[in-house]
Amino acid sequence: MGAVADAIAGGGMGGRLWLYSNYHCNLSCSYCLTESSPGVPRRVLDAAAILARAREARELGFTGVGITGGEPFLLAWMPALLAELAEILPVVVLSNATLFTGRRLAAIEPLAGLPVRIQISLDSAFPQENDEMRGPENFAKVVAAIPALVERGIGVRIATTLEDPAGQDPAERDRLCELHRSLGVGDEDHIVRPIIRRGRAVAGDMGLAVGFDEIEPELTITADGAFASPFGPTVRAGELDTDLLVTRTVAPLSVPAGALARLVGNAESGRDARLGIR
Ligand code: SF4
Repeated sequence: MGAVADAIAGGGMGGRLWLYSNYHCNLSCSYCLTESSPGVPRRVLDAAAILARAREARELGFTGVGITGGEPFLLAWMPALLAELAEILPVVVLSNATLFTGRRLAAIEPLAGLPVRIQISLDSAFPQENDEMRGPENFAKVVAAIPALVERGIGVRIATTLEDPAGQDPAERDRLCELHRSLGVGDEDHIVRPIIRRGRAVAGDMGLAVGFDEIEPELTITADGAFASPFGPTVRAGELDTDLLVTRTVAPLSVPAGALARLVGNAESGRDARLGIR
């Protein structure tokens, strides 16, 4: 095995290659890591580049692909890309699920039965609390979209992002779990994670501060370079954060993947802090 495959097999580096397809979004959530909103620079990775990196990832020993943004489904070619990616490696795509109506819903129907899972954000079982963080009508759109996807045989996970997951009121947690089960999503497909103090969360004085020692190293490719985690290429005051930048070079993938494998190999033994985006 090569150094990258060794690092993945040994657990030092995550097996999923993350790619930021774009940075713009139809929402403007209060804790958004990337300060996304409709008008921000799009920083798009085109479909051909994403497919090329995924093929290289498989050769290097990666075991999955993750697509995030911004809202990936703002890109009209995203459903077709996901179907092609699924032929290379299993895929997780993060989405706010507010666009899955009409033509967009029809466009993702071919993903049914493929190794593609859509990870959808839902922060509370209470519409008002959820919508305070994510915007008006978000709750209603999400709880309509999830069963529509499940009925079509499309894999769905739900991610709940909280200021203090450990301090969540048990009654609220129970209500949220009842809700996701009623929408057709089982407990194994519901994750709860903390707000990360990057991007818009800094201005809002929210979340957990993280650096290299707190994150699970997962190679993350963007239009601006390769990072050590999907929590790396965040945006603050309009500027891309570079504290978790690995290389500006993204192709061939062996360059940033090898660099991250060396970084992981040089990290102190006993390093076991883990924070993942999924
Ligand atoms: S958190 Fe997600 S849904 Fe919300 S603005 Fe950022 S990219 Fe969009």
